[in-house]
Amino acid sequence: MTRWTEREIAGWGRFPRVTAQVTRPERRSEVLAALGDVGPEGALAFGLGRSYGDSALLDGGRVFVTRRLDRMLAFDPETGWLRCEAGVSIEDILEVFVPRGFFPPVTPGTKLVTVGGALASDVHGKNHHVDGAWSNHVRRVELLTAGGDVVICDRAREPELFAATVGGMGLTGIILSLEVKLTPVHGPWIEMESVRVESLDHFFEVSAESADFTHTVSWIDCVTRGKAMGRGIFMRGRHAARGAAGTDGIVGKLVHAAEPALDVPVDLPGWTLNKASIRLFNEVYFRKHPRGQIGSIVHYDPFFYPLDAVRNWNRIYGKRGFLQYQLVVPPDPTHRALREVMEAITSSGMGSFLAVIKELGPQQNGLLSFPTPGVLLALDFPNYGRPLFALLDRLDRVVTDAGGRTYLTKDARMSRDTFRAQYPDWERWKAIRDAWDPEARFRSEQGMRLGLVDAPGGAR
Ligand SMILES: Cc1cc2nc3c(=O)[nH]c(=O)nc-3n(C[C@H](O)[C@H](O)[C@H](O)COP(=O)(O)OP(=O)(O)OC[C@H]3O[C@@H](n4cnc5c(N)ncnc54)[C@H](O)[C@@H]3O)c2cc1C
Repeated sequence: MTRWTEREIAGWGRFPRVTAQVTRPERRSEVLAALGDVGPEGALAFGLGRSYGDSALLDGGRVFVTRRLDRMLAFDPETGWLRCEAGVSIEDILEVFVPRGFFPPVTPGTKLVTVGGALASDVHGKNHHVDGAWSNHVRRVELLTAGGDVVICDRAREPELFAATVGGMGLTGIILSLEVKLTPVHGPWIEMESVRVESLDHFFEVSAESADFTHTVSWIDCVTRGKAMGRGIFMRGRHAARGAAGTDGIVGKLVHAAEPALDVPVDLPGWTLNKASIRLFNEVYFRKHPRGQIGSIVHYDPFFYPLDAVRNWNRIYGKRGFLQYQLVVPPDPTHRALREVMEAITSSGMGSFLAVIKELGPQQNGLLSFPTPGVLLALDFPNYGRPLFALLDRLDRVVTDAGGRTYLTKDARMSRDTFRAQYPDWERWKAIRDAWDPEARFRSEQGMRLGLVDAPGGAR
């Protein structure tokens, strides 16, 4: 018999929060059995809860936390293909496979995500311009569908179901396992350079000069106005070659051994992050980097996952939580929309220090996958309530008019009209989804808000 526990759950932004019946199956047979308990309240998979808003939430519903489905099932060292259960995390893969000379092909800015969650959001990383998104490296997805059947899908088998599951935010069923092709590497080291960029135009110059690097991203100051708007620190790197100088360096080893060194054990009071402290942080962070560029060999942890060093860092935003706004707008030599967005953010004074900018590559995948060619901007906002929501509505209009989109896995508040304008394939996606789940057994708060699934009785 399945054990269900009533629990309050939230995404990484801790806004909103809902109460659901939660189960934590350890075996696939337990997942199949638990699906039998699902009635009109609906069901949804939940990985490690690193989506920010309400993608992984279902108020009053049955939530399947997949983390204990963490078996590695098969690995072929000749090709790098790993078959594993959906609750295996990127961190698990790193721990087992970096010593064997393999690395995840794509990784988001935290290693605390499950491979199932990575596919449901079709995550991208610093190498998107070279290697595309997570789904570019995945095949043989085992999906538990609403009818109780386990269906294998990928580009060759049930390709439509695969295209709807990739970036489909858990609404086509529960991913039980998948195969991912790991990348061969010579060790844990990254050859990296950081370059201080003085403005938005300078960012694009440095980005264009960085074609030799497989991984690029830039921290960007979204607080300072005027000519220095868009200043930041551009980071670029690649997996270090065998025997690269410094790869045995003591500094890198110490950095790795020390993590995670910090914890935020309780909610910090709301005043911790006020506008003055955020401005000061940006100033210090920018100034501490000398003009020009610095090269070094670093462990993958500080390069890919600097935020994972502070456990529970989301608590610095206090009890009201925070929202992330992540957008991509198509290439435009004048960067008009991007400038308009940044001007609106800097003059609102509501942005925080956690902001990144990156040029994405040409690859596009699932019908609802976020990555499209252009420039991406992601920024955290303390939850200021109504004024913040008004600002984000305004940004939505700029992004939509420019032909861009915002990322569902970071969203907690977008309107249905905005979503439909930004994701023109939504109807095709919904037709595929509805065919596999006509009674909308799989649902989420976000899915109902955006009209991805029909709420029971048309309640929303
Ligand atoms: C610090 C930080 C940095 C990040 N950086 C990036 C980045 O660089 N690039 C990027 O793309 N994303 C990034 N993210 C977002 C994160 O990668 C995604 O939200 C990812 O989906 C989270 O995985 P999860 O296992 O925590 O899934 P959850 O957050 O638990 O769930 C996310 C979605 O996946 C669905 N889901 C989860 N497991 C399954 C399953 N087994 N079957 C079906 N559906 C499932 C859920 O229903 C939900 O819709 C970042 C997040 C954080 C906190």
